[in-house]
Amino acid sequence: MRYEAEHFLATQNSLGEGALWSVDEQALYWVDLDSNYFYRWDYRTGQQRTYDAGQLVGCLRLRANGGLVLAAQHGFAFWDFDQDRLVPVTDPEQRPDIRFNDGGVDPQGRFWAGSMLFGPQIGNPGGSLYRLDPDHSVHKMVSPVAIPNGIGWSPDRKTMYHADTTYNTIYAYDYDDATGQIENKRVFVYTPDGPGQPDGFTIDAEGYIWSCCWDGWSVVRYNPQGQVDSEVHLPVARVTSCAFGGPDLDELFITTARTGLTEEQLRQQPQAGDIFRLKTGVKGVRAASFAG
Ligand code: CA
Repeated sequence: MRYEAEHFLATQNSLGEGALWSVDEQALYWVDLDSNYFYRWDYRTGQQRTYDAGQLVGCLRLRANGGLVLAAQHGFAFWDFDQDRLVPVTDPEQRPDIRFNDGGVDPQGRFWAGSMLFGPQIGNPGGSLYRLDPDHSVHKMVSPVAIPNGIGWSPDRKTMYHADTTYNTIYAYDYDDATGQIENKRVFVYTPDGPGQPDGFTIDAEGYIWSCCWDGWSVVRYNPQGQVDSEVHLPVARVTSCAFGGPDLDELFITTARTGLTEEQLRQQPQAGDIFRLKTGVKGVRAASFAG
């Protein structure tokens, strides 16, 4: 099947990323990774709010104790909505040339996020995939990684997926739900011929992976065997992350980017950096909350 995503919010983000849906709040969160800002859009009121985190935010996820957990420029942190401030937790990198990027919460409430080189060294291996446990201990799980993106878990909790954009690859691992250990790393999909490069992704209730294609003008849905099931076309090239949301959890919200495009390219894709939506025939999975 081939779908067309609809234009949804004219956000004009430089590097829109990190789409997250809160079922309890009926709200969409995302970040602009070329700024210190993250955003919340309320589905019921249509109101949008901007938050200044004071540093780059790679991704954010819900926290069971309230607020958010962030993987930011200077490590793991919480966001306190009562005082609208960032509360640092721990920075396993402590390097000015490394920041955190995409991440997600596993079914047991552990927060996984990848770090990466940025600036002149972007795209080279130098970061790692970390796991922040509910007791706030940090575990280095995969190293090195280059541009870590889009982590997710199969509905049966036996497989973990993780993309590295530099290598045009989404990897799969055997995942132990009880311990959070991973092993048996293997290639799930490899896309040297495109479309684009795999950026963020989300996994639906059927266990199919919706993979955003950076410079690929699309989101590709793969079945659990890694075969293309369907494609979602967008009128912009740099498609970065997606999350299911809406009252029935069947609407795919998609972030995009303007960063790095030439003036000519921006004329051809004026909606680059906006948020798009596809009403799908499948449901997503409620985003897990960090348990610490
Ligand atoms: Ca990304």
